[in-house]
Amino acid sequence: MLNDADRIYQNLYGQQDWRLSGARARGDWNATADILARGRDAIIEEVKASGLRGRGGAGFPTGMKWSFMPKQSDGRPSYLVVNADESEPGTCKDRDIIRHEPHKLIEGSLIAGFAMGAHTAFIYIRGEYYNEAARLQAAIEEAYAAGLLGKNAAGSGWDFDLVLHRGAGAYICGEESALLESLEGKKGMPRMKPPFPAAMGLYGCPTTVNNVESIAGVPTILRRGAAWFSALGRPKNAGTKIFCISGHVNRPCNVEEELGTPLKDLIEKHAGGVRGGWDNLQAVIPGGASMPILNKEMCETQLMDFDSLAAVRSGLGSGAIIVMDKSADVVKAIWRLSKFFKHESCGQCTPCREGTGWMMRMMDRIVQGKASMADIALMEQVTTQVAGHTICAFGDAAAWPIQGLMRAFRPLVEQRATDYKPAQPLAQAAE
Ligand code: SF4
Repeated sequence: MLNDADRIYQNLYGQQDWRLSGARARGDWNATADILARGRDAIIEEVKASGLRGRGGAGFPTGMKWSFMPKQSDGRPSYLVVNADESEPGTCKDRDIIRHEPHKLIEGSLIAGFAMGAHTAFIYIRGEYYNEAARLQAAIEEAYAAGLLGKNAAGSGWDFDLVLHRGAGAYICGEESALLESLEGKKGMPRMKPPFPAAMGLYGCPTTVNNVESIAGVPTILRRGAAWFSALGRPKNAGTKIFCISGHVNRPCNVEEELGTPLKDLIEKHAGGVRGGWDNLQAVIPGGASMPILNKEMCETQLMDFDSLAAVRSGLGSGAIIVMDKSADVVKAIWRLSKFFKHESCGQCTPCREGTGWMMRMMDRIVQGKASMADIALMEQVTTQVAGHTICAFGDAAAWPIQGLMRAFRPLVEQRATDYKPAQPLAQAAE
């Protein structure tokens, strides 16, 4: 279990003061100017050496992402955009960072912005996080009043402004290019790539979009050093991660643990165990709605990191662990996710717009026991026509839960079809 002293988020549960005075007592904003004095390249190299991978879901190395930003401006400003559009079902980690440790995010934004040559950063927060936005805004105002933001931020000589922007509640705005469109005041629809945001992002300028947890962890990594962070976790899966454990557990919770912690330990030691005991476990979705479901057998030994979950054709995603005991209808649960993805598709590309509706309707028939074996095969085929054939990763996100269900629970799905009786054609009925 992770040592308390190694937890980045010492106030994850909000038991201490979230304000600037409380944050300072936890070490935030301590000699921030000295960190910036190391210079852009040194900061980026340290973040690279730490092995930090993006905590939003994709797991791309954070330091490398920053290094794609131009070293010399061609006249255009550079921007940092923090993705706080946390909408993945089961995920509530950024929310707790924002409401209990907002100054970690603000200080991290200054350091990351400086490292990529940005004098302005935007935090795009989902519209439903009204209270969280109010608290973050209050923390930003505290930081301005204390000289930690604005001209000569934190006495570093770097001018830095931070703007909080509220979204309007569309899941697709969590996709980075849709987020940028929305921030520009347009419909939140993903852009074709390339060009990637580092070349042409917000307002056509070089931009890096990072998740809240990625940015908020940066000040601690730079204070304690890359070697400290990379010693936690597993090779290529360094550091700590906030896991959100929900569903049929005795104590749903958020917990910061090392990457690579066994799934069983997270559920048993931190979330009070599966309702009715471990043997009552049926399934776990390990990384938010879009990550393929695992059956109990897979959960026995599963490690929770990017590569271990990819090896079983699932994913760490946002680190949201949704637990289902034997009372759950897993087929219906996946149908519900299909309904969610159908609703949230932005509709601009055909395989996703049409395919999400197809998949939801076919899942509906399977749930109701009205699908044949041929329908099940057809649905699998439809998922392959959606995944990998769309402008953004949403198409994959919609197809993967169904593909995962087929891999982990095929007998259960087929059982629904065995009683299927096709309607008798009218001509035969008449004979
Ligand atoms: Fe929109 Fe779906 Fe296409 Fe993404 S995959 S751009 S959400 S229609």
